[in-house]
Amino acid sequence: VQQITAQMKQVQARMAGIKRKLVVMSGKGGVGKSMTTVNLALAFARQGVKVGLLDVDLNGPCVPRMMGLHGQSLTMTPDGALPPVGPLGIKVASMDFFLGDASPVRWKGPMDLSPVWLGLMEMNVIREFLADVAWGELDYLLADLPPGAAADKPPVIAGFIPDLAGAIVVTTPSEVASDVVQKSVTYARDMGIRVLGIVENMSEYRCPSCGAENELFEGNTEAMCEVLDLPLLGRIPFDRTLAKTFDKGQPLLDPDYPTIRKYQDIVGRI
Ligand code: ADP
Ligand code: MG
Repeated sequence: VQQITAQMKQVQARMAGIKRKLVVMSGKGGVGKSMTTVNLALAFARQGVKVGLLDVDLNGPCVPRMMGLHGQSLTMTPDGALPPVGPLGIKVASMDFFLGDASPVRWKGPMDLSPVWLGLMEMNVIREFLADVAWGELDYLLADLPPGAAADKPPVIAGFIPDLAGAIVVTTPSEVASDVVQKSVTYARDMGIRVLGIVENMSEYRCPSCGAENELFEGNTEAMCEVLDLPLLGRIPFDRTLAKTFDKGQPLLDPDYPTIRKYQDIVGRI
């Protein structure tokens, strides 16, 4: 307990120069949480403010690749670990830099305690990581949280971030996603985290040949936002062109590109 308290104090000191800290979460994996976090970070940076991007997904940290920083690492100094700088001057710290090839499944504990043990190890590693990264002065920090099968993991990790301004929740238009997402909003609120709003990802599909836009599903997210009393911050279409550039680690940065303008609008509402 003493060590945890010391670590949390250290995290607080490391993050003292950050004005506004936000987490991006979703109960569900694969909804485009990382895609959203990265693009919101870029949208903030385009406004000329200093931005940091924190990737705490232990099972699939993909932010470095999306930002073209795969293979880079934190620079160890006596004053802490300095994050590498990506496009638009964004500082990126990822569990990927920290773990290297170490895989969470290899953290063997007593067999019968395996899930609990893994959970504890994970939390320890994340806390240790947060205590190491020296961010310096930033206007915004955006954190990409892991999906939690039990929906309670992301809020617990969000709790490691001191003076959190709030959470942005990502969903897709399917009803399956909105059910899980509703649960994670409830968990977050139970933990005292302020949820700022919902981003609907992959909300429409633009035909690559004719350019026509199709709504995939209608109304689910609006209904959910009403039930949860949350604003719908924006809707991002399924955009293969944009996604491909991030897969290749060469993010599309054109401020006039339509989907990027949508991210820009969302940032204006946060
Ligand atoms: P999560 O972090 O929620 O697991 P990702 O951000 O990694 O999800 O996205 C999952 C996959 O879907 C990635 O291959 C990503 O490129 C793709 N993707 C995400 N959002 C979009 C979008 N709006 N349009 C097209 N592809 C997307
Ligand atoms: Mg992700």
